[in-house]
Amino acid sequence: MANVEAEQDEQRWIAETLERLSHSKFRAKFVLSDKDRAYARAKGKAIINRHAHEMLHDRVGAAEPKNDGRQTPWRGHPVFTAQHATATCCRGCIEKWHHIPQGRALTDEETNRLADLVMAWIERDLIHHPVQ
Ligand SMILES: [Zn+2]
Repeated sequence: MANVEAEQDEQRWIAETLERLSHSKFRAKFVLSDKDRAYARAKGKAIINRHAHEMLHDRVGAAEPKNDGRQTPWRGHPVFTAQHATATCCRGCIEKWHHIPQGRALTDEETNRLADLVMAWIERDLIHHPVQ
């Protein structure tokens, strides 16, 4: 029962956050490239989800990430683009948009949540751009 409620809470948070992000001209302009879409479809959801967890953990998870503010490339992997679109690209954006303070490591729960947001954004992009 508690799990069902937690899942519903998270789904609501994701929907609200994507809605909030859609009002930012900067965030809303990001879309996946054709190459990223083909890559995401070829790898499948489970692998992209693992990449999202690893990339968030490695690049923004530490208390003081290396090159913070410039550590996330603009392109080259669907997760990179999704991070800019969802404001999970650096700790400054994560603090501003997701209210997680800078200067401490992300908890596993926070990393999971942000990865779920990244995945929801990627899935939405794929749905909006079906294979021709
Ligand atoms: Zn950022």
